[in-house]
Amino acid sequence: MEMTDAAGRSADGARAASPVIDIHTHIGVPSSPDTDDGIATCRKLAARAGIDMIVNLTNLGADPGSGYVAEPTPRQIRASNDMACRLAQEHSDFIVSFCHLNPAHDPAFLDEEIDRCIRTGPCRGVKLWIAVRASDRRLDPILEQVAELGVPVLQHSWYKSVGQYPGESTPADVADLAARHPAATVIMGHLSGSRWHGILDAKPYPNLMVETSGGQPDGGLVKYAVQQLGPERVLFGSDWPGRHFGVQRARVDAAGLAEDDARLVLGGNAARLLKIGGHRNV
Ligand SMILES: [Zn+2]
Repeated sequence: MEMTDAAGRSADGARAASPVIDIHTHIGVPSSPDTDDGIATCRKLAARAGIDMIVNLTNLGADPGSGYVAEPTPRQIRASNDMACRLAQEHSDFIVSFCHLNPAHDPAFLDEEIDRCIRTGPCRGVKLWIAVRASDRRLDPILEQVAELGVPVLQHSWYKSVGQYPGESTPADVADLAARHPAATVIMGHLSGSRWHGILDAKPYPNLMVETSGGQPDGGLVKYAVQQLGPERVLFGSDWPGRHFGVQRARVDAAGLAEDDARLVLGGNAARLLKIGGHRNV
């Protein structure tokens, strides 16, 4: 793997291209099955948008036909993580998987999943959704492990005018999590749900990054995130198949970022975080 600095420059100063990496997708949900055909469709659509690799957060639809599972059981977690490991192994040129956890489960079970999926398995991060709010101390054992392993945790977050789901985190909850665990890298999910307020919540914590997915693109939001947090703390994410790869990439392409900053957001930061080599597309 070629050594580069944060802006993607190699030791001789030449700028190396980074792969374009989408930090937020879901395979294994009803509209993106984990079959060979499902993966082939995903690859084709991603390639059309110039996306080289995706991070599969898997968590939804752990049982065929069950749809969205807000509070997965240990059995559903195991099934979802089995799929995550298999996809990461079978499609290692395209898919990076995160292991999904429910912080309400017994810490011994959480350890077991982290061990088999990350410590000795192919997963490179943890996804947390809406089972437990990020301000809850039950997340602490998970964060201690990810800090030790040097992998990120991506926590869904949203400010909703219609009210949160019972276990749904606000950006302020995620900022609280990052403050409690300064040695861990935390990714605040859904910039379009966090919005301007969420960016300011994240700002004091250098171990807290944001990813650009959520809703449709808002003019000025990605640029504001880069201005407030610096280009190293913003990651491109689409939330495919809930959203369109091309539309979601366009929010970064059209944000008016400096070329080096856009490279970091589109893939340089994710490559650094996930320890991915290889240089394509950008
Ligand atoms: Zn999602």
